[in-house]
Amino acid sequence: MIAEPLLAWYDRHARVLPWRSPPGAAPPAPYAVWLSEVMLQQTTVAAVKPYFERFLARWPSVQALAAADDAEVMTAWAGLGYYSRARNLLACARAVVREHGGQFPGSVGALRKLPGVGEYTSAAIASIAFAEPAAVVDGNVERVISRLFALADKRDVRERAAALTPPERPGDYAQAMMDLGATICTPRRPACALCPVQSNCRAFALGTPEAFPVKLAKAPKPERRGIAFWAEADGHVLLVRRPAKRLLGGMRALPTSAWGEAPSMDDAPLATDWRLLDAPVRHVFTHFALDLSIAIALTERVNTDGEWWPIDRIAEAGLPTVFDKAARAAMASAMDLPC
Ligand code: SF4
Repeated sequence: MIAEPLLAWYDRHARVLPWRSPPGAAPPAPYAVWLSEVMLQQTTVAAVKPYFERFLARWPSVQALAAADDAEVMTAWAGLGYYSRARNLLACARAVVREHGGQFPGSVGALRKLPGVGEYTSAAIASIAFAEPAAVVDGNVERVISRLFALADKRDVRERAAALTPPERPGDYAQAMMDLGATICTPRRPACALCPVQSNCRAFALGTPEAFPVKLAKAPKPERRGIAFWAEADGHVLLVRRPAKRLLGGMRALPTSAWGEAPSMDDAPLATDWRLLDAPVRHVFTHFALDLSIAIALTERVNTDGEWWPIDRIAEAGLPTVFDKAARAAMASAMDLPC
């Protein structure tokens, strides 16, 4: 119903992205599709582009990535967020090499069995890299389908999406739907006048596109508090590795207290004279919001768990965003410390 006008529009207006082939061209390598789709989960196209290009230059094949050092990959991922994706990225690359001879499988079913590859990602890889007419439903597509059919219930989206997906050019169709959602059928003020499927759109006919998808009231996120410790000695700061199974597992970080209702200075990594800064750093994770107070101290380079990292190379430590914010706050205040 909508494939023909949508593909004609895509042929003229497709976004040029480093992981894509032009409309109608041979599909991109499955490795590039997979890498980009994992990076794009919960992350914007603009943020992903430089990471994708760096990863592809550093690890140009799934074999190269499978052989990579875990810590190097985690460092390269720093700043992109949702770090379990980086761990799954490595696990998936190794599974493709070990179980599939270094070739990504081409069906949704086999892709789903790979670490970190869920319903959406498997459908995206199958359709874009292998021309399987799988229904690809991300947030953008969900919005477009909800509006096309003026759906009151988002649970109906997948069935409608599957019925719309054409057998011809399914990869281009999937990317056209993503582009339509990202550039025309936007969450607010969709550009219906420019929309190639306007004549098929029920929400447009009703005059209420923004009423779809129907929104449910969101529960507020739980609040947690913590303390990050900036121990500075001789131009170095004490960094630790986060425990593998915890949030931000495997990443370099400042030592912290436990995160909860009442963080304790007893969790400090060194017994020294700590000064607590006035303003905490706030960071919102998927499931909770964190107010991270900063404790700073000038100390000596004693032997302790962790590593003393040169402060003038802090940007190379690969700190996740929350600790990058904390480090900046600490550095701005450490200058005021008495020597
Ligand atoms: Fe979205 Fe408007 Fe197009 Fe309907 S007509 S799909 S609401 S942009």
